[in-house]
Amino acid sequence: MRFNVLASGSSGNVTLINSGKTSVLVDCGLSARELAKRLEAVGSSVDELNAVVITHEHSDHIRGLKTLAKKSNIRIYISPIACASSILKDAQNLNLGEPLQPGQPFEVGDLTFYPVKTPHDSVDPLVFRIESHGVKMAIVTDLGYIPRSVAQELKGCDALVLEANHEIDMLKVSSYPWATKQRILSQVGHLSNKEMARFLQQDFDGKAQHLVLAHLSQQNNHPELARLAALEALEAKTPLFAMLNEQKVLLAKPDSPLGWIDL
Ligand SMILES: [Zn+2]
Ligand SMILES: [Zn+2]
Repeated sequence: MRFNVLASGSSGNVTLINSGKTSVLVDCGLSARELAKRLEAVGSSVDELNAVVITHEHSDHIRGLKTLAKKSNIRIYISPIACASSILKDAQNLNLGEPLQPGQPFEVGDLTFYPVKTPHDSVDPLVFRIESHGVKMAIVTDLGYIPRSVAQELKGCDALVLEANHEIDMLKVSSYPWATKQRILSQVGHLSNKEMARFLQQDFDGKAQHLVLAHLSQQNNHPELARLAALEALEAKTPLFAMLNEQKVLLAKPDSPLGWIDL
């Protein structure tokens, strides 16, 4: 299995997962044109996709989904209530896969997806652990904190895509309206560098060789602050482990693909 984060952040989120046989998008937060461009840039195309799997109905995760569905009739896996609350609610002739439910795994070709419920302010927020031929990864963004129930599902993963949305002090003094700040900082908002680091230090099992920090705010975070928070947490956990893994803490970008990560 290999994956490539094609876009990450409030301007759009898309990750491409490929098993060799099966190609699946997790989220579709880019316009159809931009998605086609980025797929081409990584040697893929819309025609090669077997399905798109949706975490939740916020626009940075489904912006391009309606157009993609219309143009390609791609199979869509989404929570039924998220679908009913989204831009898809009036769409005709959708090619829907089985309805997503937390704790109920489903298969797309030789990829198995495990939906996990998260604390986030959408109608039915999910993240996914994805497995293929004994290899595991997880994409964990858009959640206010990492509860034990989520941390448990991340054990044994070979790669983690983990939200590092904001630096709390930067967010507090930013120009965002007070209500927006409160929303982001809440238990159902977004993951701070601090909470990401807490997870790494306390609840991470240390197995993942690849850690991709994702969904960084362009206003309220700085890539190096997020990376440093992760590296410090790993080092506090075990110095040797951090030394071995320093090169493997990567940063997903809003405007270009991260590059393929082979597992
Ligand atoms: Zn988001
Ligand atoms: Zn969201």
